[in-house]
Amino acid sequence: MKCRICRSEKVSEVINLGKQPLANKYPKNKDELTKEKKFNLKIIFCQSCRSGQIKKIINRNILFEDYYYLSSVNKKLKEHFERLAIKIKRYNFVVDVGSNDGILLQPLKKLKVKSIGIDPSINVGKIANDRGLETYIGFFDRKIIKKILKKYDKPDLIVASSVVTHLENPIKFSKDIKNFIRKDGTLIIEIEYLQNFLKNLEFERFYFDRPFYYSANSINKLFKNVGMTLYDIEKIDVHGGSLRCFIKNSLRPKITNRCKKILNDEKQNLNFNSFKKFNKQIYLNSKILKDQLISFNKKGLNIIGYGSPARVSTITNVGKINSNLINYIIDDSPLKQNRYSPGMHIKILPRKNNINKKIDIVLVFAYEYFKDIKKYFSKIKVKFYKPIPFGTLR
Ligand SMILES: [Zn+2]
Repeated sequence: MKCRICRSEKVSEVINLGKQPLANKYPKNKDELTKEKKFNLKIIFCQSCRSGQIKKIINRNILFEDYYYLSSVNKKLKEHFERLAIKIKRYNFVVDVGSNDGILLQPLKKLKVKSIGIDPSINVGKIANDRGLETYIGFFDRKIIKKILKKYDKPDLIVASSVVTHLENPIKFSKDIKNFIRKDGTLIIEIEYLQNFLKNLEFERFYFDRPFYYSANSINKLFKNVGMTLYDIEKIDVHGGSLRCFIKNSLRPKITNRCKKILNDEKQNLNFNSFKKFNKQIYLNSKILKDQLISFNKKGLNIIGYGSPARVSTITNVGKINSNLINYIIDDSPLKQNRYSPGMHIKILPRKNNINKKIDIVLVFAYEYFKDIKKYFSKIKVKFYKPIPFGTLR
């Protein structure tokens, strides 16, 4: 097997998360519950470009037709993009690839920066267009580029935030970017950082929607191949610690020291060995979580979950944690409410009417937003826990 980013053969299986459903498909009724499919979730690692990849990629069309993730529902993410918009306002024409419901387009519009989005999800793209944020619905490919270039010039800035992880074919993506971007233009890619997954034991960040898990070195190799160069990296705090990579459409931009430092650090610390310990910890920590929930239940305590991001699927399916252990999960996205969590089928409910005195334990799946979540429970006495690694949240 060859690496799908750099074509090296220095590739090995490093993680096996067993049978998993699609983490962003929330079945809504009996029919969808019985038809739900599961697939083997195995991760391979390339020692040459230092990327993680899903061994067997699921067809993208199944995944994105109807999608349940609205970025703008997420307050912290909204602020993140408002700050990014200010940072990039000097550009003439910005294209946001994977623009979701217009979370970056909205603040850019406010700043009067010419910008458009591209998103594959029909229902989410429509929400953006209805808000007056021009969004081309479809995958980022030659066809859609052609369509855009009929109406607009080439962009001097392309932003792709949390996009490359979802791609089926990163090499094709890099070629398409190269053809689309202006000479000397800039590409900003935001990636959830593989190195941090390992550091924070975030195995739940591996799921089928996202076949690729990047390091700075893998981004560098991917774009070097088409004559573009990674020249700067900013560490940002979204999604458990991400990297914002700046890539120039030229071969010799000045490379910042912080960029060089991250590239070198990975060469020393991110390798096959890093996964050995990680792999053991996955099963150990899943068992700890399950044992805790069982013991809470024996005491007659009422447990609910808060937040149903995709990680709910990975965590509950690895740990075999179902509605016998968690009563229901509250989520603020209307697109997930009154559906079931993938695989383990825990009911997802809105906040309204479902925060009450009967609750004893809240397992906070969306722990990045704990500060906000805590406020919703201010009138009742509950205990909060982070699922993996299991621990109290205060
Ligand atoms: Zn590779």
